[in-house]
Amino acid sequence: MKYRSFIIFAENQFNMREMIQLLLWLWQMPQNLLGEILAFCYGGSTSFCRTGKYNRVAVVSSDRMRGGISLGNVIILPEYFSGKTLRHELGHCRQSLYLGWLYLVVVGLPSIVHAALHRKGDYYHFWTERLANKLGGITDIK
Ligand SMILES: [Zn+2]
Repeated sequence: MKYRSFIIFAENQFNMREMIQLLLWLWQMPQNLLGEILAFCYGGSTSFCRTGKYNRVAVVSSDRMRGGISLGNVIILPEYFSGKTLRHELGHCRQSLYLGWLYLVVVGLPSIVHAALHRKGDYYHFWTERLANKLGGITDIK
């Protein structure tokens, strides 16, 4: 009887972990879907990082990508990228975790407009980029 209750306990632990991962995926669904589509389009090699106990991020590096983009649990980077760039993108992943469905409107859209309009000077002066650096643990921020 005790053995059986242990099995049920173990199964509940497993189900709880999967449930949390599913809820986190749904919480970030719009950017996750967009990220999956872009990762499929860009191809490239994939590795994985964690941004918390339950949240796993796929890092896709593609020779067809020039900059970096973070969409929920997917980061797409150029073929060669620095650790600092990865940490910056992981900072955007944290923004996605905090904002959920609001991420694309609050961070994604302003970031893309900023990236398109930015010509010279410090790229990281813009609040979405400065905050991503901070959340990614980049300490040498101006
Ligand atoms: Zn950024």
